[in-house]
Amino acid sequence: MLMEDGILKAISNDGTIRAVIATTTNLVEEARQRHNLSFTATAALGRAMTAGALLTPVVAREGQVTLKFQGNGPLGKVMVDASPKGTVRGFVENPQVELPLNSLGNFDVGGAIGSTGYLHVTIDHGFGRAHTSTVELESGEVGEDINRYLVCSDQTGSIVVVGTHMNARGVEAAGGLIVQLLPDHTEETICRIENNITTFGTFTFLMRRGMSLEQILERILSGFEVVPIAGAKPLKFYCKCSNERFVEALRWMGSKELLSMAEEDGQAEGRCHFCNAVYLVGKDRLLDLARGSK
Ligand SMILES: [Zn+2]
Repeated sequence: MLMEDGILKAISNDGTIRAVIATTTNLVEEARQRHNLSFTATAALGRAMTAGALLTPVVAREGQVTLKFQGNGPLGKVMVDASPKGTVRGFVENPQVELPLNSLGNFDVGGAIGSTGYLHVTIDHGFGRAHTSTVELESGEVGEDINRYLVCSDQTGSIVVVGTHMNARGVEAAGGLIVQLLPDHTEETICRIENNITTFGTFTFLMRRGMSLEQILERILSGFEVVPIAGAKPLKFYCKCSNERFVEALRWMGSKELLSMAEEDGQAEGRCHFCNAVYLVGKDRLLDLARGSK
């Protein structure tokens, strides 16, 4: 049985590092099934969704984070929304794109997203106070691009690890962490963390051995006295679209368009990009809406 998805924040007693760690296997598998994603697309969207979940407590406090990777690769746009309530949703423009493994034997996420282009990060606290920062893509591998964004926006050094591991049946393990280096850190701090990752194995390797968030954190940050801040919070795939929202969007179209849709198509069909749900509004309802609109 799969471990539940969750996110945990921690800080080291010596004040040198702060960490956020997340497991996202189930929500990435749900995205794979909803969008019928290829292996390469699952790896890319999985990393991006994990990054969105991790960034929310790091940069948005109580706000929502939207990531848009717009690279020159065949996958096209990759978009993710993550909220402080622990909900994540996302999609890729071309979900069927499959690339051969790269020279390291990994899914070619960098080739799929592309190494030339932009990462747009929007932080929205509601009430119309959204702010977007844009950085050039570093490699399209997601982790490195997020790291560049953090360096540019936050001016703190960070270590970003995001991974998706798959077998023939689907996503076996997905997750990652962001370690922020606080002002008291030294060169040794970075070396030690990188050493731990090399010694103990990748994030998804540790997950596949059945380790909990706390245990993985202990391994990767071995040598630091790290204490969790509050308990782990659950994460899940959730999209806020609904039939009511679709009807609401139709209302904006004006009676002429609504009438022609009713006469020509006999219905209106809408598909949510983020979760692939399909909404249908029948002819009678369209005629009702046309009468009610200007
Ligand atoms: Zn949706």
